[in-house]
Amino acid sequence: MIDRRYCLIANVVYFCILLIGVRMHITVSSSDKNVDSEHHTFEQPSLLLKNRIKSPEAQSKLKILRLSDSVLNCHCVSPPATMYLRKRGDYIFMVNHYEHGQHLKNCPLYSDIKGCREAVNRDISPESEESDFNTFIYHRAFPSTGTDSTNPKSTSTRTPSVRHGESKLERLYYHLLTDTLSNWHFSGKSMSAEQHLFKLKSSANKILFGSSTLDKYIFIGPTGLRYAFSKLYRKIGAGWKGPGRPQAFCMFITNTIELKEHSLVIDDTCLSFTRLVSPLAKSALKEVEGPYFVLATLCQMHSERIKLHTVYIQPIVSLTNQVPITSSFERRVFTALISKIDNGSKRYSIQKILTTQMQRNTSDYSTPSFILQLKNNHGKVIYRSMVQIDDSIYNLDRFSRSPISLWRVNHSMTISPDEPVDIATEKIL
Ligand SMILES: [Zn+2]
Repeated sequence: MIDRRYCLIANVVYFCILLIGVRMHITVSSSDKNVDSEHHTFEQPSLLLKNRIKSPEAQSKLKILRLSDSVLNCHCVSPPATMYLRKRGDYIFMVNHYEHGQHLKNCPLYSDIKGCREAVNRDISPESEESDFNTFIYHRAFPSTGTDSTNPKSTSTRTPSVRHGESKLERLYYHLLTDTLSNWHFSGKSMSAEQHLFKLKSSANKILFGSSTLDKYIFIGPTGLRYAFSKLYRKIGAGWKGPGRPQAFCMFITNTIELKEHSLVIDDTCLSFTRLVSPLAKSALKEVEGPYFVLATLCQMHSERIKLHTVYIQPIVSLTNQVPITSSFERRVFTALISKIDNGSKRYSIQKILTTQMQRNTSDYSTPSFILQLKNNHGKVIYRSMVQIDDSIYNLDRFSRSPISLWRVNHSMTISPDEPVDIATEKIL
C-alpha cells in the first residue's frame, strides 16, 4: 500500500517536472551580452534536460552554439538565467553563470547544472573546453627514451604525400586564429603578414609546452627557421626538457609556393618535408593561388639530426587580411566584401567560421562559410546573415537544415561559384 502511494507521488512529481519541462523557455544570445538586440528561441528545450543532453541531437545543436559564441538563457526568472557552454570529455554541457545564472528552484535546469565562476574568470581546468590546447605536443618521444610510452603510434614514420582532413596542426592554427580574432574582418582592419604571425605566436603563450610555453618554440619566416634549428640543437645539448622528442614550429606567409613531392620552396628557401597536411587536396591546393599560411614542424629524427617534418598549408585572403579560404571563389567574394565594408559607412563585419573537416563530417548540420553582421551606432547587432558557398567541401545538403536560431541569424543564403562574384557579393551585402 505504502509502495503504491510512493509510486503515485513519484509519478505526480515526474509529471510536474515534465510539465515544467514543456513550458521551459530558453533563448540564444551572444556571449557578449551587450551586443544582441534580440534573443532567438531555442526550439527544443527538453533536449537540455539531463537525460537527453548527451544525445547526438542535443550535442550537434550545442556544437553550433559554441561555434557561434552563444550562451543560453533560461526564462524561469527575470532577468533570465545565463548558461555558458563548456566541453567536458566528449560532451558539451551548460554551466550556470555564478551570478547571473540563478534559476528558479523548481526549474528543471536548477539542479542539473552546477553554478560556477569559471565562465567569468575563464579559469582553465583540465576538463574545461580549452583543454584541447592547454598543452601542445606534435611529435611524440622515441619509444626507446621511455619518456612518453603512452602513445604507441609515436614510432610510425609514415610517408604519405598528402594527408588532408583532421590535423592537430590545423586545430592549433584555428585555435590561434580564433583566440586573436583573426577570423574576423571589420571596417579598416588591416595588418601586415608579419604583425599577424607575431600575434599568433604571442597568443600561444597560453599553451603549455613542456616546462615552458609554446610561443617560445614558434618561429617566424626563413630567418626564424634557422633560429629554430640552432635552438633545438642547443636544447638537445643541454638535455631536452620539452614534451615528446625535441621539436619546434615555424610559421610563414608567402605569396607563392613551389610544391613538389617532398619539398616546398618559399621565398628562395627550400624546405624538404616528410608529410604535407592541408584542408585542400594537393590538386586543389595547386589551383588556389597565394598568399598562403604555412606552418612547419621540425623535430629530431632517429639519426639525431633535426629535420623539417610536417608542413601545413592553407590559402588566405591576402597579405593584409589573413582569413583562411578554401577556394579562389571564396577569396574573390571575401576581397569584394572587405572592400565594400572598408569603403562603406555602415558597421559591417564578417566572421569566417573555422571548422576542421572532421567537425564538418561529423555534424548533422553544415556550418556556414562565414557570417555577415551589422551593428547600429549603439553597438547592437541589428542584422546577421550566414552565407554558404555551394561547393563540395561544405555539405550543402545539410545547410538547408541548419537551424538559424542557433547561429543567431536573420538570414541564410547560399552562393554558387558559377555566379559572377559581383552578383554574389551584391546578394550578400
Ligand atoms: Zn531555469
